[in-house]
Amino acid sequence: MTTVFIISAPSGSGKSTLVNRVRELVPGLKFSVSYTTRQPRGKEQNGKEYFFVSRKEFEAMIAKGEFLEYADVFGNYYGTAARFLHDAQKNGRDLLLDIDVQGAAQIKAKIRDAASIFILPPDRLQLERRLRDRGLDPDPVIQRRLAAAAREIENYSKYDYILVNDDLKESVKALQAILLAERFKHSAEPATDQTQTQCFEIAERCRRANMEERLQPIIASFVQPAHSELITKVLALFATAAKWLGLMLYFVRHAAS
Ligand code: ADP
Ligand code: 5GP
Repeated sequence: MTTVFIISAPSGSGKSTLVNRVRELVPGLKFSVSYTTRQPRGKEQNGKEYFFVSRKEFEAMIAKGEFLEYADVFGNYYGTAARFLHDAQKNGRDLLLDIDVQGAAQIKAKIRDAASIFILPPDRLQLERRLRDRGLDPDPVIQRRLAAAAREIENYSKYDYILVNDDLKESVKALQAILLAERFKHSAEPATDQTQTQCFEIAERCRRANMEERLQPIIASFVQPAHSELITKVLALFATAAKWLGLMLYFVRHAAS
């Protein structure tokens, strides 16, 4: 039986890094290559990272019912072709989808036992650092990604598992454990050896219900900057007002003398 895994994360959280590592460690995984109407970035190749198509081509695929799910993300269409699921089922492989929160909701509605995983950075500062160190985006784009991250994180409660990508080695281990635990669960065979039991234990720790406490400071770190930005703006306003007041007093005093 094919298990469907949904992975979502704010940009820069380390999703590609984790997925690439885990694909080397977990055999029998098929990665779905999405269709998109956005332009290729950097070294992206058609058919590797995405299938790059025009809006007209994408809309023709929608009309023919070729998508398992699709969504408008940041003004571009993105979609998972249903044939990826059919191929995985035919070849007895599991399917890994890297999609946004809207797509995740559509898949969950269609495939009840799909397992969804939300990857998070340890906090906003680290996310900003990772986006800068990655060196792919100019500053305004980084600011936009951080603002989008704050909104995306609000959707964490729709996912089965939460993975905080702090230490990379630990995160790879946790993601591998989640994939294997879900696979064991669907295979209907009871956990027998120590590796399986260990996978279940690690995966259980990442269950959303067990992550609430760990999540609160992360969510707070994405809220605070908005407050501190407001405080900075108010202070700047006071400073400007004080400067003008000082100037006015100076002129009034000189005019009087
Ligand atoms: P995403 O696919 O979520 O946009 P990437 O996989 O491109 O993110 O990772 C963003 C940057 O963060 C990359 O430079 C990557 O090497 C780095 N990175 C990923 N995971 C970690 C981690 N656990 N600790 C430190 N840096 C990380
Ligand atoms: P990017 O353009 O940075 O590669 O991806 C932007 C967003 O689109 C990411 O959140 C990514 O997960 C999401 N995405 C990629 N492919 C799909 C897809 O097929 N369906 C949906 N719904 N989202 C996708």
